[in-house]
Amino acid sequence: MKRFLAAVLAAMVLAGCGNVPLTGRKQVLLVSDQEVYQAGLVQYDEYIKGATLSTDSGKTKMVRSVGQKLAAATEKYLKANGFASELDNLAWEFNLVRDTQVNAFCMPGGKIVVYEGLLTVAQTEDELAVVLGHEIAHAVAKHSNERMSQQILAQYGAAILSNVLSEKSAAVQTVATTVFGLGAQYGLMLPYSRKHEYEADYMGLVFMEIAGYDTDSAVEFWTKMSSSGSSVPEFLSTHPSDSKRIAQIRQRIPEAQSVAASLK
Ligand SMILES: [Zn+2]
Repeated sequence: MKRFLAAVLAAMVLAGCGNVPLTGRKQVLLVSDQEVYQAGLVQYDEYIKGATLSTDSGKTKMVRSVGQKLAAATEKYLKANGFASELDNLAWEFNLVRDTQVNAFCMPGGKIVVYEGLLTVAQTEDELAVVLGHEIAHAVAKHSNERMSQQILAQYGAAILSNVLSEKSAAVQTVATTVFGLGAQYGLMLPYSRKHEYEADYMGLVFMEIAGYDTDSAVEFWTKMSSSGSSVPEFLSTHPSDSKRIAQIRQRIPEAQSVAASLK
């Protein structure tokens, strides 16, 4: 652990630090946005090729229109708060996939996939906006880059950062497979840390609010999710879809509302 912390410190000196929009949290980002985007895109294309898109045109349309509304709200926030350059790293795509799992996931750059099964729990546009806002937030907060950076440090140590470029990009490729492979498998359920989940919950509320959705439905949606817990594999039971998460969301709704109001 000590060695890991030393590596994190060295990395902060050698490479970049970032600030998460909205929360201002400092994060270590060792990989360029372009590299993360490209690595994510490879995994995403592979996933989409193997997936069956939903044939329900009404539901697909709903996913895309709610997604685009939230994306526009997110961009409005970023532009108004000095993050306009971040728009270069975002190319939104919203797909509904035929899969009965109650899940959704986001790849870097805003490639978002919703499984049909999720719509059995998220039944209204507002509830769908809870999930899409949350997934958009993971992209905007660069949680993938942060996880890749942590993984690179844990696997290779800070030395990799001063190494020749080819070694570093090989490391990025290896790590991307682990990070996005898992992401594609678990999405909404994991493997982000609780810290990332709570952050995405809060940011998602703000984007919902700006887009004009009802943020109270976040409480309703996560309450339904936790009571339909039978579909969640046992080993994922530490996921914060519990009372603590719902309490946090309830507590932060007024804050999200006032941030959104200040944009008007
Ligand atoms: Zn999440």
